[in-house]
Amino acid sequence: MKILANDGIDPIGKKILEDAGFTVDTVHIPQDELVNKLNAYDAVTVRSATKLRQPLIDACPNIKVIGRGGVGMDNIDVDYARSKGVIVVNTPAASSHSVAELVFAHLLNGVRFLYDANRKMPVEGAVNFGGLKKAYAAGTELMGKKLGVVGFGRIGRETAKMALGIGMDVLYYDLFEGPTSLQLDLSGGLKVDVPVRQVELPELFRESDFISLHVPFLDKPVIGKEEFALLKDGVGLVNASRGGVIDELELLKALDSGKVAFAGLDVFEDEPTPRTALLIHPKLSLTPHIGAATNEAQERIGEELAQLLIASLKK
Ligand code: NAD
Repeated sequence: MKILANDGIDPIGKKILEDAGFTVDTVHIPQDELVNKLNAYDAVTVRSATKLRQPLIDACPNIKVIGRGGVGMDNIDVDYARSKGVIVVNTPAASSHSVAELVFAHLLNGVRFLYDANRKMPVEGAVNFGGLKKAYAAGTELMGKKLGVVGFGRIGRETAKMALGIGMDVLYYDLFEGPTSLQLDLSGGLKVDVPVRQVELPELFRESDFISLHVPFLDKPVIGKEEFALLKDGVGLVNASRGGVIDELELLKALDSGKVAFAGLDVFEDEPTPRTALLIHPKLSLTPHIGAATNEAQERIGEELAQLLIASLKK
């Protein structure tokens, strides 16, 4: 049986599949050529780049399994594929820790002006060291501050655990009732339960010093015009969930007015062409959708995907 890993697969995953007797092609077939070429395979794995929509699914009846390395399946017509008997699998938990760490990269960047300092040091570092030192004097500690987590699923909880480890207070909002504490696994096998508080969304918006978003894409932004008005002055925001969860135009206004002190974005309404006003904004810390892009997460994704494909193809 032949598997096309159209957006790549970690070598560990490839080896597991090959050891199980499958042929794995890691060549990337461009989107417009898939309609003529995908039907030569029994299964396909994708990340977020390749789109598997209804016409392509119809054109490739030989495809028995679709594997998505990662969480979000918005690039696949999942229900349609399943209605045609195609098995669709993903690896939802494998990248949670990596995404949560990226949230803290953005938060620490924001509170210690790393973006600005990294750009100014090469130009002004030798001639204006003192001036820059003064410009970045008013950093903020995360310890003791409140982190509001919107969406308390896999990534939201990982993010919350890291915040608790730093000494932040965590409040969260989720559609479903969640825990009143989280267990931190510390080094030396030590486990500690630390309280977290579930609140309604307006309360989270009013109380949080920093907010991190971890919900799927919804039909309207979680933070739009009305919600920005509720936020604490000088709040720091991070969106590493899906573009559109924060209204980007309203975010730009809130950054310009000082309502929002800084924001970190890993995801954008328009990917791969985010709006220029975001790309050049001095109060934004930006990454090109790399939440899951660590060696460790990719290994876990590859391994899990390989096992899921083997189980599905051998059914
Ligand atoms: P998850 O399903 O484990 O958690 C999502 C949580 O959001 C659930 O607890 C759910 O109850 C809650 N939720 C759903 N709709 C809600 C709403 N309207 N209001 C409040 N809560 C709501 O998902 P996850 O694995 O934690 O992923 C979270 C997000 O991160 C997803 O959007 C996913 O696509 C994204 N993600 C991004 C990257 C990246 O590279 N930046 C990587 C992986 C996942």
